[in-house]
Amino acid sequence: MKRVGVIGGGQLAWMMASAANKLGVELIVQTPSANDPAVAIAHDTVFASVADAAATAILASKCDVITFENEFVNLETLSVLAKQGVCFRPSLEALAPLLDKYHQRCYLRNLGLPVPKFFAVDQVGSQELGDGSNSIFEFLAFHNLDFPLVLKARRHGYDGQGTFIIKDIEDLQQKLAAATPENTLLPNSVFLLEEFIPFTTELAVIAARSVDGKVAIYPIVETQQQEQVCRRAIAPAEISPQLAAEIDEIARVILNGLEAVGVFGIELFLTADNKVLVNEIAPRTHNSGHFSVDACETSQFEQHLRAVCDLPLGNSNLICSCAIMVNLLGYEISTSNYIVKRQKIEQIPQTIVHWYGKTQSRPGRKLGHVNVLLNHKNRNEAMAIAHTIENIWYSN
Ligand code: ADP
Repeated sequence: MKRVGVIGGGQLAWMMASAANKLGVELIVQTPSANDPAVAIAHDTVFASVADAAATAILASKCDVITFENEFVNLETLSVLAKQGVCFRPSLEALAPLLDKYHQRCYLRNLGLPVPKFFAVDQVGSQELGDGSNSIFEFLAFHNLDFPLVLKARRHGYDGQGTFIIKDIEDLQQKLAAATPENTLLPNSVFLLEEFIPFTTELAVIAARSVDGKVAIYPIVETQQQEQVCRRAIAPAEISPQLAAEIDEIARVILNGLEAVGVFGIELFLTADNKVLVNEIAPRTHNSGHFSVDACETSQFEQHLRAVCDLPLGNSNLICSCAIMVNLLGYEISTSNYIVKRQKIEQIPQTIVHWYGKTQSRPGRKLGHVNVLLNHKNRNEAMAIAHTIENIWYSN
């Protein structure tokens, strides 16, 4: 397997480049715009939307195996290609239960894994909530649900887009009414409504599974979100060995259950009574695993390519005691490359800046990230460095 097709050309595909060089693999990318980060590193590009299966047929003619850097694909149209013998890794069967957040929750529940209490909200306009309730009030009372609640678009959400913490009934009614096919934040008329988990910490784990079923698990990280967008990840998370073992087992159950091939990111909530709930599975490399590029023997991107190319998985251990990853999020509309700020951040010891080369900055857009490696475990110190980086980045 020497030629890997990647559906999606964002930073996750871009970060596969150095691993591809190392492994002697060519990357052929399907992405809509010549400005997308991975175009610069791709051996060849098919310029088309990731949901364009006709373009994926062209991609397939240029490579040995196809993988994904995002999940906004159309499985029905891709399945025609799979039937013709195109090799997708992970398989379309492994993606099928995950692409819709409601189906994903059902899948996890059926595996016996702990998830927040959740419901599908079907016909928003008519307030028919799919279970015979005649009003939102009846629905909430029947299911013993109280505010705050969390409302999520079932498909196409990312970085908190399409996820809303709902504080009261007016807020819920307003969001449901705003859902139209034209509304890009709420594009679907079908939602997932779930209980708000008052977590103490959010955790994430990156795990990889090979074609022959071997699983490699990365150190569990603590992730920190602001307004539903990841700001930082600290590896390893300060959790007990028992909890780490429990989360490793959750990762194994998920990847083996799906017969997954490749890297998957799993997001979790940890509650005050030390209970873990699975929030979300991403069937691809994940922001919470970016620390691995500098801090682990095998990065998540190399691991992913190893898995999809049917090579043996690499060692996923840390090569330092502790690492912190800080996202550089856009905070204005601009075409700046922020070189002065990047150079200033790079002067912090043991710091590596990864800049995705996006031509447009917008508030909340992921423009790059910073990894800092520490040779002793000290969460307070890691947080202090993160704040120094953020003070430089978000200052005027
Ligand atoms: P996305 O797919 O956009 O990343 P997520 O479902 O992961 O959306 O939600 C983004 C963030 O919103 C989470 O990391 C968490 O901080 C918050 N969140 C999501 N669901 C819940 C919930 N049920 N309870 C509390 N916070 C939540």
